[in-house]
Amino acid sequence: MRAIRFAGARQVELIDRPWPEVPAGEVLLRVRRTALCGSDGKLWHKGAAHTPGHEIFGTVDQPGHDLHGQRSVVYIPVHCGVCAQCLAGQTHTCERESTLVGWNRDGGYGQALSVPEQCLLPVPDDIPDDLAPLLLDTIGTATHALRLVRPLLRDLASMRVLVTGAGPVGLGGLIALQDMGATDVHVADPRPHRGALAESMGARLHPVGDRSRRFDLVLESSGNLAARDQGLEVVAAQGVMLWVGENDEPWTVHESKPVRRKDFFLVRSFYFPKGDHAANIALLRRHRERYARLVDHVFDMAEMPQEFARFMAGERIKPLMRGGE
Ligand SMILES: [Zn+2]
Ligand SMILES: [Zn+2]
Repeated sequence: MRAIRFAGARQVELIDRPWPEVPAGEVLLRVRRTALCGSDGKLWHKGAAHTPGHEIFGTVDQPGHDLHGQRSVVYIPVHCGVCAQCLAGQTHTCERESTLVGWNRDGGYGQALSVPEQCLLPVPDDIPDDLAPLLLDTIGTATHALRLVRPLLRDLASMRVLVTGAGPVGLGGLIALQDMGATDVHVADPRPHRGALAESMGARLHPVGDRSRRFDLVLESSGNLAARDQGLEVVAAQGVMLWVGENDEPWTVHESKPVRRKDFFLVRSFYFPKGDHAANIALLRRHRERYARLVDHVFDMAEMPQEFARFMAGERIKPLMRGGE
């Protein structure tokens, strides 16, 4: 089959590789769309032995199987189902399994992949192909993080919120925040077109790096270390600094006076529990026109070498690769 290989040093190649083998307990998924994600940048630099791509949507192609023909997105954390975390519904923090589809095993930048049955999240027919991948990082990750800290916040409608980074998670967070009742959401991003998009969706622009105002909630979605430092300083007393963005570089915290002399919550959030899926579909249905604005390009696999470079240059928000189905 055709697939994409990250050869290292930003080399993206279209290759022929063997069709996936499908062990017991798994099914073949034919890829309809896989979303590009900034976190793939790590593999783009380092190279990967497997086929990357972790925001995957496709159709089960396993004749005779109960799920044959089912449109599904792929929940990437493989999980045991019986540990304390799994039993509590926290499938994304399973204590026994750490494999992530697209990170430690073949993902969705190809025509098809083998997926554990437990990692299939069904997508209803009214959700179009071009919106389905948003149910993962854009909606799932951003919204889970906000649900996690919701009990720490009194009245979102009267609170001042800062979102650092107007990429898919930041903008997905903006929509989820507004759905939760937030009205005073400020967004900071160094790329003007992203800031303009956030503004057109009801946010106020906040100058990058500005530390002159305090915020009850800071959603840090960029992974930028300066943005994290800024968040620790500008989060108000009793407020929440919500750390969602990722960065492999060491993060050294300077315990400056604005960081030290207050009570505040610093909360890290990763991905989302499988049980959020139904609520996430409902959220997508309520705001589908606005989520659709984040998908700014859909292209065929053959264009991936150029398109991935354009994406990493910051020219797109959430482009989708067609897998061929
Ligand atoms: Zn992602
Ligand atoms: Zn488990």
